[in-house]
Amino acid sequence: MGKVMKLDPMKSSVRYVPTRVAVCKECGGKGVIYTDGKPFKCTSCNGSGRVKVTCQVISTVSAFVPGKDDAEGELTV
Ligand SMILES: [Zn+2]
Repeated sequence: MGKVMKLDPMKSSVRYVPTRVAVCKECGGKGVIYTDGKPFKCTSCNGSGRVKVTCQVISTVSAFVPGKDDAEGELTV
């Protein structure tokens, strides 16, 4: 039996960032991409020049171990 890594729902929280509209990076907001001088509708934004961005952030809380975690020098408290 292998060790199963599972997110503890009591120590983890998922934060959903509301969907926002951003300029399409594929076409630079123009909605068209030129290939060999011919305009083609951008498939990333479907020609609108804008895309919707959705993201979610998972935060996990775990115990800080003095002498172990502060020895790493990476964490800033
Ligand atoms: Zn686009």
